[in-house]
Amino acid sequence: MTSLLVKQLQHAYFFNRILMAITFKTFKLTDISCRGLNRERRKERQLFLSRHVVADGKEFDGGVLVDENGIISGVYTRDSLKDLSLLNDDDLQVIDGGRWALMAGVVDSHVHVNEPGRTSWEGFATATRAAAVGGITTLVDMPLNSVPPTTTVDNLKVKALTAKEEIYIDVAFWGGIIPGNEKELKDLIKAGVIGFKGYLIDSGIEEFPNVEETELDAILTTLNGSDIVLAFHTEAAIDDDKNTQCENCDPNLYSTYLASHPPEMEHKAASILAKYIPKYDVRIHVVHVSSAGVIPILEQAREERIKAGSTRWRGGVTAETCHHYLTFSSEQIPPGHTEFKCSPPIRNLTNKEKLWNYIRDERLDLIASDHSPSVASLKGPNFMTAWGGVSSVQFGLSLFWTEAKARGYSLSTVSHYLSSGPAHLIGLQNRKGTIRPGLDADLVFFDPNASFVVTPDIIAYKNKLSPYMYRVLNGKVMQTYLRGQLIYSNGDVSEKPQGQLLINDSVLFKR
Ligand SMILES: [Zn+2]
Repeated sequence: MTSLLVKQLQHAYFFNRILMAITFKTFKLTDISCRGLNRERRKERQLFLSRHVVADGKEFDGGVLVDENGIISGVYTRDSLKDLSLLNDDDLQVIDGGRWALMAGVVDSHVHVNEPGRTSWEGFATATRAAAVGGITTLVDMPLNSVPPTTTVDNLKVKALTAKEEIYIDVAFWGGIIPGNEKELKDLIKAGVIGFKGYLIDSGIEEFPNVEETELDAILTTLNGSDIVLAFHTEAAIDDDKNTQCENCDPNLYSTYLASHPPEMEHKAASILAKYIPKYDVRIHVVHVSSAGVIPILEQAREERIKAGSTRWRGGVTAETCHHYLTFSSEQIPPGHTEFKCSPPIRNLTNKEKLWNYIRDERLDLIASDHSPSVASLKGPNFMTAWGGVSSVQFGLSLFWTEAKARGYSLSTVSHYLSSGPAHLIGLQNRKGTIRPGLDADLVFFDPNASFVVTPDIIAYKNKLSPYMYRVLNGKVMQTYLRGQLIYSNGDVSEKPQGQLLINDSVLFKR
């Protein structure tokens, strides 16, 4: 007994020593590398310098001036900076990133935070901390997987109150479209949702049923003429004779799952939407395109809209794809590895290359994570029964850069698809997504030449599951700034959540 007690005491002693060492190290790192990560920023002007500023489609050696309120007030080349007297201003705080690229913060328009209700899957604190580590400064929470779902103003209020004190970056909300909630839509718009998301097929979530095609007229009539965007999960049931469900196939093989979600399901849903697009002046967005065949269907609908005189961004017909469709192909998914499962599914290499061609030709509009985590117990080796969803919110910038760099693209392309495109989608292009005077100083120092390995200990989101585990990614977020305030630096996230809710709180909280 005595020796056991001694052993336990020894164990506790060494554990405490290790803990002290970790705490001390973290404190020192924070102290040295974060230039006041734990302190309030003094209200003074800042000049961010970089040999590689990525601003509004241009890349140059220069600086970005930020005012006392965290708004970008000037963008300069290095030469033009020399002529400015501001460098002699004692009150100007100069932050020199040297060879790190200075880019606009990433806007991730597709994240499932799942709180409240499924907080064991994810939460606002963990999701937004992970996002800050990944250079994301704004995320938009999807309306489903939380309980309640964001389908009424009262439910939005519950979600906003939950998120309010917990967010490390700015957060906006999608509202949800379910059968019969048309009467809520206008009030949800007034309360500040950036758009609505619906399904044309079973969502897999009981409290978020899909709408039928017959309900689209009523929904589109309600939204007609507004600036709000209506997004759809683009899969629809296809005729039974084309159904490729295979009862005798091995459910642990990815090919079994892939065959159960053929591209025709995506094409069918896109065709349904394309039929309605010319009849209404409503912005339509297709989330997480996997099959390359979706894009020509949407382009035809866009052309019709533009011919009819639409002046909306991209004719009000837009599409996103996600990092997993641009990184993986079905051929490489091993049996039983359901961390790769998502819907629509990751398709073959030829399809992946077509998506990259669309990026080259600007036939896609933005890239999002569709971070959709769950607890490990809902995964397991069976692709047919495992919960579908890929976790990646922390790694988007590096994931896209890893693939884009190998294909010869520049950081301007990265910024276009990860920041500017999503900001346009959510109607915040005059506030977020680009380095331009008048916009929030949401900035990222990114080292395009660094690389790192994805390991469980660096994952900041709640459940450390990822199909990217142990992959080497190129490009590393070094620092993240939200409205000029440092919120992440070299492994440390700001202690205090400093994000804002991008909602109309005077309307929402008055009710
Ligand atoms: Zn999603």
